[in-house]
Amino acid sequence: MIKIKDISKQFGNYTALKNLNLELYEKEFVAILGPSGCGKTTLLKLLAGFMKPTSGNIIFNEEVVANVNSIVPPEKRNISMVFQSFALWPHMTVEEHIFFPLKHHRYGKIRDKQEQAVRVKDALEMVGLNHLKNRYPSELSGGQKQRVALARAIVPRPALLLMDEPLSALDAELRMEMRKEIQGIHRHLGTTIAYVTHDQGEALAMADRIVVMNKGEIEQVETPENIYTKPKTVFVSTFVGKSNLLKGNWVTKDSFVPTGFPLISWPDIGISEELKDQNLYPVRPEQWILDEPQKIGMKGKVHFAQFQGNEIHYSILMNDQTLNVYSSVFTKRFKPGDAISLSINANVTRPALSY
Ligand code: ATP
Repeated sequence: MIKIKDISKQFGNYTALKNLNLELYEKEFVAILGPSGCGKTTLLKLLAGFMKPTSGNIIFNEEVVANVNSIVPPEKRNISMVFQSFALWPHMTVEEHIFFPLKHHRYGKIRDKQEQAVRVKDALEMVGLNHLKNRYPSELSGGQKQRVALARAIVPRPALLLMDEPLSALDAELRMEMRKEIQGIHRHLGTTIAYVTHDQGEALAMADRIVVMNKGEIEQVETPENIYTKPKTVFVSTFVGKSNLLKGNWVTKDSFVPTGFPLISWPDIGISEELKDQNLYPVRPEQWILDEPQKIGMKGKVHFAQFQGNEIHYSILMNDQTLNVYSSVFTKRFKPGDAISLSINANVTRPALSY
């Protein structure tokens, strides 16, 4: 549905986006994930039509909507946006906000008053705000405001919904609840969603595909499961899931021996060429099994241990590396200074099943 072809964006001498290529398919939920300043919002603004690229094309359904010379502005694209800041008008009630696009948007406009009322009622029900429809923004909580912004965005049934960190102003519990609601709305409406976030949990939980960005470039585009279990680059390995990158040697094409432990060898479970070239093996913190020192095994020492409720987060010193290890609270506990052995849980080294 949408093609981003060789897009670059310069601000003066600064390159915010470098030769991006990406396709968004109809009805899919794509999360754009990356650290602060990597260019996520710039990409979203280009998709919205707020600015021209420095080079490249953006194509919506075969029509070029942006290149270096021309741009189709936001109001002439069949899109809606939801921002972190809600962007509500203080003088309008909840219901008036949701009527607005049906009266004024070029694409969402509906002349039939009855049809307008049905659409508004459906949107209010979808976000659970029917009982608050006569309130003003100043009389709403943060979560309720974000629901109004969401209802206003979906009521014209846009072909593309752009969301920029929509949950980051909400508290942790509400964020979890809103994740499910946004997923439910996506399933119900089938709108294509491009969702910017720096929160890997949000991207992993909600998206069909994740675009991981770093320093203005795309590092990897895949399903959440593949991003997590088969990271292609050093950046993706450490940014998503905080993998430990064990140093060692790929002694054959599918056998890795970690430095200092010549009797141990791990199989190739789809490790990327970039990691292999650098003689690294990614091990996720929850993949380790922590034990009393064993005769054969990787020996190390507990540096510190943090109680997290459901898990204990250990920092383990092993050779010249510091490793993150997450253990269930229901397994044996260790304290700083304890000698330990580490091994890998074989079950999670198998290729991931899709579901
Ligand atoms: P965050 O998660 O902090 O919002 P982001 O990934 O969305 O970050 P962008 O807002 O896309 O990042 O910004 C990417 C880079 O481009 C940043 O270094 C930013 O300072 C720069 N930038 C963005 N807009 C402009 C502008 N109008 N003029 C100059 N530099 C800009």
